[in-house]
Amino acid sequence: MRLSGCSLGCIYCDTGAYLRRTDSCRLETAPGSRRFVEIRNPLSVDLVIECVKLHAAPEVHSVSITGGEPLEQPGFTETLAGELKSLGMTVYLETNGCSFDMFSRIAEHIDIAAIDVKLPGTVRCSAAQCESLVENELACIRLASENGIYTIAKIVVLPETAEHELERICREMPSVDAIVIQPVSGQSVSELKLLALQGIAARHLGADRAMVIPQMHKALGMM
Ligand code: SF4
Repeated sequence: MRLSGCSLGCIYCDTGAYLRRTDSCRLETAPGSRRFVEIRNPLSVDLVIECVKLHAAPEVHSVSITGGEPLEQPGFTETLAGELKSLGMTVYLETNGCSFDMFSRIAEHIDIAAIDVKLPGTVRCSAAQCESLVENELACIRLASENGIYTIAKIVVLPETAEHELERICREMPSVDAIVIQPVSGQSVSELKLLALQGIAARHLGADRAMVIPQMHKALGMM
């Protein structure tokens, strides 16, 4: 499920329609059908749980909470994740890692966490703000990893991303289950650049954990 609202300003953001709260949201009536019903916002946690149950099936891997930014609605996200977990569902949080404090509140309910690390030049903010953001992101990753959450560090790279920027992040990165280098959509990041960046991640965190994966929902034309 995609929560609305995010106060970061990533230059590559592809969820602009979800950065602000909206009057209504959409529920797909059957998985993959692309048929939707509109529901008035805000939704209660109970109603969201009922919507999730409509799509529950043995083959469903996990319930993803993404955004926008889930950590910007910490109370709702905490309650929702706790309820999902208590129903025996696998909870997969996708977050930009903007707040270690907020992440700490919900970590006990999370099974899988994909946490962004924003490289310099990818977010519209001052150098000091970017530095603080990276500190929070790495702290979230450390907490997730130490608490047995399957932890994925996701790093979007641009054609102009410098290798030393990734090198620095990888040096400070705690152990993770996977580090995903994601070429920004809509721009051409060369194969040589991607191989070099993947090599840096592999040297620091293990070749079996360092991978290059494009935005699959975009590649497949999905929501
Ligand atoms: S963190 Fe995600 S939702 Fe927020 S601006 Fe960046 S890309 Fe968009």
